[in-house]
Amino acid sequence: MSLKVAIIGRPNVGKSTLFNRLVGKKLALVDDQPGVTRDRRYGKARLGDMSFDVIDTAGLEEAFDDSVEGMMRQQSEKAFEECDVALFLIDARAGLTPLDNHFADWLRKRHKPVYVIANKHEGRDQDPGLYEAYGLGLGEVAPISAEHGLGIELIYDILEPHWDAWKHRQRVAKQHARDAAIEALEEAAGEADDDFDDLIDVDGFADDEGEVFPSYEIEFSEDDEDEDGELIVEGSRDNSKIQLAIVGRPNAGKSTLLNQLLGEERVMTGPQAGLTRDSIAVDWSYEGRPIRLVDTAGMRRKKKIDDRVEKLSVADTLRVIRYAQVVVLMLDATNTLDKQDLTIARMVLEEGRALIIAVNKWDAIKDKAGVMQELRDKLDVSFAQARGIPVLTFSALTGRGTDSLMPTVLDIHDIWSRRIPTSQLNRWLEATTERHLPPVISGRRIRLRYMTQAKSRPPSFFINCSKAAELPESYTRYLINGLREDFDMPGVPIRIYLRSSD
Ligand code: GDP
Ligand code: GDP
Repeated sequence: MSLKVAIIGRPNVGKSTLFNRLVGKKLALVDDQPGVTRDRRYGKARLGDMSFDVIDTAGLEEAFDDSVEGMMRQQSEKAFEECDVALFLIDARAGLTPLDNHFADWLRKRHKPVYVIANKHEGRDQDPGLYEAYGLGLGEVAPISAEHGLGIELIYDILEPHWDAWKHRQRVAKQHARDAAIEALEEAAGEADDDFDDLIDVDGFADDEGEVFPSYEIEFSEDDEDEDGELIVEGSRDNSKIQLAIVGRPNAGKSTLLNQLLGEERVMTGPQAGLTRDSIAVDWSYEGRPIRLVDTAGMRRKKKIDDRVEKLSVADTLRVIRYAQVVVLMLDATNTLDKQDLTIARMVLEEGRALIIAVNKWDAIKDKAGVMQELRDKLDVSFAQARGIPVLTFSALTGRGTDSLMPTVLDIHDIWSRRIPTSQLNRWLEATTERHLPPVISGRRIRLRYMTQAKSRPPSFFINCSKAAELPESYTRYLINGLREDFDMPGVPIRIYLRSSD
């Protein structure tokens, strides 16, 4: 797409010569096979900083009958129709002919900018056509010599305002297209917000062996709904209650921590795995912020004290994770991060919840630096997708270090709920895709056009993208890491949904 300039005029005034001059190549040969019906010729012209398409109407006349109307209709009408500006050539040396006058009459009736160019003016002031041309009633006359390249700057001056206007129209059109695309994305985002299941895969969860755990229907009571009947578990925006779960293997110290947090013996602790009182949720508040501590595995029912209880119930844990917004995964520092722990952590992130890792029984550790390093290494390997997961160390038993837990919960809940304005996202997208271009697939570069936040909790984004299916996962990871870094969202899962636009 570019500005289109048509060169119009009777035969022999020098249209092809001007075309060649503007295009800079011998594209439209003067005397090129007369009589051969060719359609209009197009060339890409450059004048200074300006670039435009030139439409040449020369070389066609012999294909038509001699009648003026016939010629004009067939030769010029099409070119004129599609151009933005017309250059009407006359021969300054030869003076005006009846045919020129016919052209002028015809052009005057159209509502398009037309400029009279008096060609073949090579310094002879008395060129008759030059003065006669003013009488055409088409305004200024620009004297040039296409053959000798004289007066071409006049053509530049004529076209420049049209070029500027064209550029402006392009910008506006682009902006409209962009706005429309963003609106469509936002509409889709609205729908997605209404339908949480659209975005979050709840069909099941695969463990390390690829075994898929069935998905669980959680039964909610009225207590779990807000005034509008919305489930609080999904975090309706105006309800600031934080749903917090503390999960971990039996004996990690969950009950001890709860006692520590709540400051009362609400939950029975003991040396035996799984020995806890029946309890579903505890409403509580931290510095004025309502907190609901949701059920944790092992808390749900009193289990028989039995070795089998040592085995973590994945189904129970998954249920709890889905019920929570922020999940604290408790590890036993004397026995850290085994496969079960990693499985829980992965479940938390795959379910889109905010994760905090709390390493308990820190009082019992001598080589604190060594244990910490080992933990960090394991996390880096296992959770590249959620860089910056907060890791806390404390002793639930003595209470040392536990006071950092709740501030961390509030912080990560904020990040998890963050909304980023569309304008910022699109500026970011442009810069980020420029820094590292998306790949070229079968000759065409994948284009990431527009972006909007589909929802928060966790931060999820729509990107309008060409060939969405072909965008490699590594590129999506690059975008996610960039978002995490640039918008300061450590430790929470971030999702990107690609929408194909073609
Ligand atoms: P068209 O039929 O309007 O496309 O005209 P052409 O470009 O084929 O030119 C017709 C004749 O005029 C050719 O012999 C050109 O060499 C000549 N001509 C074109 N421009 C100029 C010019 O600026 N000065 C002079 N002296 N002759 C020119
Ligand atoms: P749960 O099964 O995860 O609820 O674990 P409990 O809270 O019942 O704790 C299991 C055992 O670990 C109990 O004997 C606790 O006293 C002990 N324990 C809990 N927290 C700590 C801690 O910070 N330090 C030490 N040394 N022992 C702890």
